[in-house]
Amino acid sequence: MSKYDYDLFTIGAGSGGVRASRMAASYGARVGVAEEYRVGGTCVIRGCVPKKLFVYASEFGHAFEDAKGFGWSAKEVNFSWKSLIENKDNEIDRLNGIYIRNLKNAGADIFQSRATVKDEHTIHLEAEDRDVTAEKILIATGGAPWVDETVPGHELGVTSNEAFHLEELPKHVVVAGGGYIAIEFACIFRGLGCEVCLVYRGEDILRYFDTDISVQVHSEMTRHGIRVITQSLFTEIEDIGGGQKRVQLSNGTHIDTDMVFWAVGRKPATKGLGLENAGVELGKGGAVKVDDYSKSSVDSIYAVGDVTDRVNLTPVAIREGAAFAETCFNNNPTKTDYTFIPKAVFSQPPVGSVGYAEHEARHEFKNVDIYKTNFRPMKHTLSGSDERMLMKLVVDADSDRVLGCHIVGEGAAEMIQCLAIAVKAGLKKKDFDDTVALHPTAAEELVTMREKYKPNL
Ligand code: NDP
Repeated sequence: MSKYDYDLFTIGAGSGGVRASRMAASYGARVGVAEEYRVGGTCVIRGCVPKKLFVYASEFGHAFEDAKGFGWSAKEVNFSWKSLIENKDNEIDRLNGIYIRNLKNAGADIFQSRATVKDEHTIHLEAEDRDVTAEKILIATGGAPWVDETVPGHELGVTSNEAFHLEELPKHVVVAGGGYIAIEFACIFRGLGCEVCLVYRGEDILRYFDTDISVQVHSEMTRHGIRVITQSLFTEIEDIGGGQKRVQLSNGTHIDTDMVFWAVGRKPATKGLGLENAGVELGKGGAVKVDDYSKSSVDSIYAVGDVTDRVNLTPVAIREGAAFAETCFNNNPTKTDYTFIPKAVFSQPPVGSVGYAEHEARHEFKNVDIYKTNFRPMKHTLSGSDERMLMKLVVDADSDRVLGCHIVGEGAAEMIQCLAIAVKAGLKKKDFDDTVALHPTAAEELVTMREKYKPNL
């Protein structure tokens, strides 16, 4: 009989924590899980899932316009933010229930409480004011939105957490940031009819992606009427009355708006967790430092997901959670593979990307060929929309291996999930060429690009 109350105690019931806990329980471990907010974590409760539902909602804004070219006319089109929020909340409640059931069915004990670490094997449950012990502790507390507190009036802005529960849809929104959340929410609000201005500090948005993606998304956002201001920061936010805020920018101008939205990144949620009591080493931004098996500097304490700030994506947290359970509870040491992870930005139109961006490939490989096409998708020949679609293949000219694939356009996220199999498997450009096209689709361009791209030098 173990001297501890549990074999595993997980702090945080998000994607990584739940997967690890369920798998460990299935291998016979006695598992306890503490969650201070709602089981399901950021992805399910206030991230990917409700965001995608908002994306669907806002895409109708464009679809009604596009439909005219196909003969449709609607006398009156109305949108109810209240209905959207209610329906979204019902769906999130349903998913939350499924997550709770799954954990319980696996045999885990769930504690609705904030939990902190007292020492290498002891957890304090604040709601019950008592301690529990565990042979292993898993930190899976995720991350939290960060705002720049050096900006006077920063507290007048909201983050993605609040955006899912706004009582009313604002008329005008100013978004800070040029990453995933900034772009996705700017497009959501615009599709729902808001005036949107996005303020980004760098040269162009989505800077971690291939440059062609940044340029295309920027141009599509502008085409949809989003004002994009680059190389600027918020310097102050003031309440100017009547529900209005004034945002002062570093370029000397200002914008008056109903809502200021901070989307300048997320930080690992380790503050106040008591990790220092156990001697757990933290790295940049408070991330738990872990080895390839997600073990922290303390033998009995592990961490998975965004709290480790490796690759902050739900499917990666799930993989890390599964690898942890395999390693610690199934006697099968397993590392997570971080190569060729497909990524999507649910902008409108969306982005799908896997593998090397052109600039990364040119840095790593001697000879790189680029194939790319930028066209008006068939749908828009009748819709009248000027929307364009970009597809790009990055190829190692010496081995013919496809190193990366990047798409902006309708269906990009769905396409890239399938393409990621080919790119991860190391398929060659010739394999793409040998595959018969499926007509008429946009995706057929991916197997019919024959001409190497020659930049106009
Ligand atoms: P990102 O890291 O994607 O973007 C943060 C943005 O804020 C960047 O443009 C960054 O600029 C900018 N920024 C950082 N610091 C400042 C500052 N002090 N002042 C002004 N701007 C600043 O973070 P997000 O919050 O958008 O998303 C967090 C994470 O969540 C992502 O990394 C992603 O892993 C995940 N996510 C994934 C989604 C998906 O898969 N579709 C959707 C949403 C989130 P710079 O580029 O110059 O550094």
